[in-house]
Amino acid sequence: MILGLEQITSFMLTLGLVHDHVSQITKSAECNGNYTEELLNALFPNNVYLPATPEYAESISTYFGSRARLNASVIFVPDVAEQVSTGVKIMEFFDQQFAVRGGGQTSHPGMAGIEDDILFSLERMNELTLTPSKDRASIGPGNLWGRVFETLESSGVAVTGGTLAPVGVPGLLTGNGFSNFLSSRGFSTGDVVNFQVVLGGGRIVNANPAENPDLWWALKGGSNNFGIVTRFDMNTFPLPGGIWSGTLAYNSSQVETVAEAFYEIQTGALVESPHLDVQFMQMVIPGIGLTTTELVPFTDHVNFTGPYPSSLKPLFDIGPSDVSSARKTLTKSSTEAVTPEFIEVTNKRINRANINIKAHKRLYKEISTMLSAHYGSSTLEDHSVSLSWNPVTAHAVRESNRKGGNAGGWQEVNQVSLNLRVNWANAADDMAALKMDEEFMAKLDVAARKWDSLMPNQWANNAAANVDVMGSYGETNLEKLRAVSRKYDEAQIFQTLCRGGYKLWN
Ligand SMILES: Cc1cc2nc3c(=O)[nH]c(=O)nc-3n(C[C@H](O)[C@H](O)[C@H](O)COP(=O)(O)OP(=O)(O)OC[C@H]3O[C@@H](n4cnc5c(N)ncnc54)[C@H](O)[C@@H]3O)c2cc1C
Repeated sequence: MILGLEQITSFMLTLGLVHDHVSQITKSAECNGNYTEELLNALFPNNVYLPATPEYAESISTYFGSRARLNASVIFVPDVAEQVSTGVKIMEFFDQQFAVRGGGQTSHPGMAGIEDDILFSLERMNELTLTPSKDRASIGPGNLWGRVFETLESSGVAVTGGTLAPVGVPGLLTGNGFSNFLSSRGFSTGDVVNFQVVLGGGRIVNANPAENPDLWWALKGGSNNFGIVTRFDMNTFPLPGGIWSGTLAYNSSQVETVAEAFYEIQTGALVESPHLDVQFMQMVIPGIGLTTTELVPFTDHVNFTGPYPSSLKPLFDIGPSDVSSARKTLTKSSTEAVTPEFIEVTNKRINRANINIKAHKRLYKEISTMLSAHYGSSTLEDHSVSLSWNPVTAHAVRESNRKGGNAGGWQEVNQVSLNLRVNWANAADDMAALKMDEEFMAKLDVAARKWDSLMPNQWANNAAANVDVMGSYGETNLEKLRAVSRKYDEAQIFQTLCRGGYKLWN
């Protein structure tokens, strides 16, 4: 639709601008042909980063991985929900493409970024408050989990945030979210009791069990398809004694035994004692011939005697070559992996992919040798590949369902979420690296089908870029999500103007 000057003028007046200001904006916009940027700049001069400024460069550099660093024409950094609302009205009126970013931890280009159009970056919306009774935290979408844990820790409480400090709040919480408390409390989204959301048209609403419950459900896995979440209200839980966690490193020759032990723990101890989490981490760095095999146990029940919870004895009995374990705070646990090497990775080329499979001992054993077999001979510079095995027990899914459901299509089945994380040095190797990943994921798919263990859904927070994540949630869920989208986003701006992420219609 072509907008006339009269329409544009009257729109600008509805935003509270006076006639003189409107004329100035019109003149500038006629010169550079861009009303949206002129308007954002005029209304919120302190909330706009322009290209070639240090703030712009700094903001773009925070994406996790250089592939995601696209060059928006303007970065809009609102302070409050009302500014987000005005921003959305402007995008809608001028039919302007935009993207939304929280922590920017999605490494796929264009998921939370945009080239030549407008980026809403929520980095300044980092309010964080706790109710006087300490049972509920209100968390702005500009927060990272490390800050959330540290702030709540002084009050002896915690929330089901991500396992690493630099991970952003909003992407994780609209994509189901795995925390170390997954087995006992369900997905992180299960603890969100209210989302404050800016919808199409700029309307600010709450979504909770009493108000807009269908939208509340849809945001538990539905990503950026419905609006921009401007506040998450989460249930807290007491964590006065901190946590215990450890890393058990094994020789690569033990990998199949470790995979079997992981299966036994997942189907035994984790089911009997859900206050336990054990992740299985494999890594291959072909350039230096390094293969690592680790189990990473965690518990918030710290009042055990002896060096580790007795239920973990089978993992120690295998004979790890190295053990580091200790009682610590949740903040420490979330920051200790953030080493200089980790920070270096944030500037590399990064890819991620996911598959979920039913717990199956022989399949686990088979998969455990596939990573080094597939990537071991890679000659790509600085190629580093890891596969993280995250157990999702039937109890975890049941618990999420009890707390209001999950839109992510998770079935009440004891399963493992296999998450591939890859980085390499050079853009020139992108095609080769991505092809290798695609082939590896296809091999996992074949193995899982062979044992009739493939789960249909993909986990939004670690899925590959080209996967139909929303479709993978199942026909019923997809239809419900689409109905919510039609109801709350009549003009469908979060399908057509808000780029990036996994959309409801492909
Ligand atoms: C090192 C590392 C460790 C990780 N560990 C965990 C973990 O322990 N548990 C886990 O669950 N995940 C983990 N992840 C995955 C992580 O959850 C996702 O990358 C998630 O998207 C990060 O959130 P973000 O705010 O940084 O997302 P962004 O990259 O900013 O955005 C992701 C998507 O969410 C949308 N979005 C962002 N903000 C909003 C908003 N306010 N309203 C609506 N849509 C929005 C974006 O448009 C985009 O499509 C990890 C990722 C990394 C890189």
